[in-house]
Amino acid sequence: AAKAKGKQTVEVFRDAMHRAALERLELTGELQHAIGDEQFELHFQPIVELQAGNIVGCEALVRWGHPRRGRLAPDEFIPVAEDTGLIVPLGAWILRTACMQMVRWQAAGIADDMRSMSVNVSTRQLRDPGFPAEVRSALAASGLDPACLTLEITESLLVDDRMLILQQLSQLKALGLRLAVDDFGTGYSVLSYLQQFPIDILKIDKSFVAGMEIAPDRAKLVRGIVELGESLNLQIVAEGIERAEQAAQLRAMRGPLGQGFLYSRPLEPDAMTALLRRGMPVSVAS
Ligand code: C2E
Ligand code: MG
Ligand code: MG
Ligand code: MG
Repeated sequence: AAKAKGKQTVEVFRDAMHRAALERLELTGELQHAIGDEQFELHFQPIVELQAGNIVGCEALVRWGHPRRGRLAPDEFIPVAEDTGLIVPLGAWILRTACMQMVRWQAAGIADDMRSMSVNVSTRQLRDPGFPAEVRSALAASGLDPACLTLEITESLLVDDRMLILQQLSQLKALGLRLAVDDFGTGYSVLSYLQQFPIDILKIDKSFVAGMEIAPDRAKLVRGIVELGESLNLQIVAEGIERAEQAAQLRAMRGPLGQGFLYSRPLEPDAMTALLRRGMPVSVAS
């Protein structure tokens, strides 16, 4: 009976694998079509200066308006796009769309405080030899000042193939933009890379911010990163701020910028425009 049960388990497992593979294949085909069909949209989440709560930047976050499955979050399709290489054309669209949107807000005169548009870049994109040229052409096509663009890269990227990555990042820096390390602290934490690569910003991963108001160790860790940033002259952004207590603690550290549901969820372009038009800080009383 045990043997039969084992066999059954294997079959159930195999079925599940098979279904997952089919689903992936289907998603790949749909993704290909969706890029040409413009089924994607960008949402924007404010990045705020924590003392006054004014919006000093925003991050573009992609969503897929899937005709049958509804709106899909990036975690549901970015991995497939990376594996299949479709992230390269999708990423190019994201970059252009984000740059154009920023220029529209600037032209409308509602982005005075909002100095930078942040765009996530995946490893596969960054390793693509054509990527720096792609960024240059997105800047040229939109007319966006390169100083107003921040590219977010992940920490793990910095540990493999250092020469290639360093070359790519140097070319990007030469365009005049800024580079941020996203989800800082979750990767390999090889601190030496902070000196080797032309990094401007560290984004403290939300897992460190979560619970810092109840776990003193976590708060100490966050403070440590803030101090590291200070001594290396890096801007710090704390991600995933959900609670007023967290914001108060971060404010007391002086220096870091913040991002999180406490201030605003990622917004559709029109909602972000409305928020900018109000011209009000999004600070929350503590
Ligand atoms: P990320 O770059 O670290 O983006 C922050 C994620 O945290 C976003 O999830 C955002 O909605 C979420 N978030 C913001 N504030 C809070 C908060 O207070 N609490 C919690 N629990 N979450 C918060 P989202 O939009 O689902 O994106 C997930 C990840 O997908 C991103 O993480 C990024 O790695 C990737 N991604 C998103 N857009 C793009 C893109 O255009 N290109 C690429 N290559 N990757 C993208
Ligand atoms: Mg990011
Ligand atoms: Mg992050
Ligand atoms: Mg992430």
